[in-house]
Amino acid sequence: MSAATRLEAGARGPAFLRADSDAGFRAGLKSWLATELPALAGARGPAEANSIAFRLAWESHCCRVGLSGLGWPLEEGGHALSLARQAIYHEECARAGTPLPVNMIGHGIVAPTLLAFGDAAQKARFLPRILDNSEVWCQGYSEPGAGSDLAALRLSARRDGEEYVLNGQKIWTSFADLSQWCLLLARTDASATRHAGISVLLVDMSLQGVTCRPIRQITGEADFNEVFFDNVRVPASARLGPENGGWRLAMAAANFERSTYFVPRVVRMQAELEALIRLAAERRQADGCAMLEVPGIRAAITDLGLKTHAMRLMAEDILTEAERGQTSGVSSSTLKLLWSENHQRLFDVAMEVLGPEAALGPQEVSGAAQGRWARDYLWTRAETILAGTSEVHRNIIAERGLGLPK
Ligand SMILES: Cc1cc2nc3c(=O)[nH]c(=O)nc-3n(C[C@H](O)[C@H](O)[C@H](O)COP(=O)(O)OP(=O)(O)OC[C@H]3O[C@@H](n4cnc5c(N)ncnc54)[C@H](O)[C@@H]3O)c2cc1C
Repeated sequence: MSAATRLEAGARGPAFLRADSDAGFRAGLKSWLATELPALAGARGPAEANSIAFRLAWESHCCRVGLSGLGWPLEEGGHALSLARQAIYHEECARAGTPLPVNMIGHGIVAPTLLAFGDAAQKARFLPRILDNSEVWCQGYSEPGAGSDLAALRLSARRDGEEYVLNGQKIWTSFADLSQWCLLLARTDASATRHAGISVLLVDMSLQGVTCRPIRQITGEADFNEVFFDNVRVPASARLGPENGGWRLAMAAANFERSTYFVPRVVRMQAELEALIRLAAERRQADGCAMLEVPGIRAAITDLGLKTHAMRLMAEDILTEAERGQTSGVSSSTLKLLWSENHQRLFDVAMEVLGPEAALGPQEVSGAAQGRWARDYLWTRAETILAGTSEVHRNIIAERGLGLPK
């Protein structure tokens, strides 16, 4: 890339991206968010503000104005921001209450994997469309018989000349029904040992033989899908990295987001805790006592406050480790465990505070004013399963952190 094009890539996006100091970057971002978010949210009500349509609209708006590829190299059209600035970005977005991203697999996993392992043609084909959010990605790892034990996956990709022929099934594939592409793991050598016969393929979801069947969750939403592959013909050029070398790529891909993964989650949790305190102060028992004064509720909220603060410090430690190139799976597992289990606890307490009203269910179903709490209470049940179950993370901490026997 020429120096001029590189300069153009670096000059993309709002001016705060090029601030001299982290404080200037944060201040510029905050003021940008304070204008842009209400402008796009417009008259949308609280339920609509969390809809997939609004989440996609916000994400695409950010990409359109140049707020994407924050950590990518300038040569690939990115901003080459430090991890610290990327963390500030995610932190301030969470603090401003921006909707959760939809194309998180595209930006958080596929792009860094392509940057590390893609060939020139793959980078040229896919990266610009992730940068502008015109293509949404999903991740096809889990199968009915392969979740925690991912290496048991069976989706077969048989080589036939210059193509692979895919047969099998994926499950729990988030946003597969609205994705254009899927980064998936397939078995390319059934005779090899479990980890050795796996390849990564980039699969066009519009190909003949791909069928998505949405799975409805307890919240009433259908965020994930079963995906069936029936004699799907994929060009050999869609393979990322070496044939049968997919396990190493998948493990590397799992590390890419780790450093900044928790910052926005913990910030959102702090905001939710503040909202819970307000709710508990408003709600009263039959004897007129505010729920916040009930000893059990008060103790639970204090405990959550302390834990959230500790998690904030841990997230900063993980970021510092990553900046020094020392990412540790054990500290990420510890934080994932603490975050997911305490996030669930926060909504357990909210249900106690709401009392019988909690039984009205999610707003989307009941239209109840407090339905958001019920929806999030139900949704957070998934958080101790996704991105590794609590049991799997406890195993990692026990074996790799504490040196306990398997
Ligand atoms: C909201 C959500 C979104 C998801 N999105 C995606 C996605 O986009 N793409 C994708 O590929 N997958 C996705 N998943 C799937 C997720 O990765 C799997 O659900 C997860 O890996 C667990 O696998 P499993 O459901 O097959 O459970 P299993 O692995 O069958 O586990 C069942 C139970 O056994 C326990 N267990 C398993 N192994 C051990 C062990 N060695 N020691 C102790 N206990 C053990 C587990 O903790 C669990 O309680 C998503 C899941 C959720 C909830």
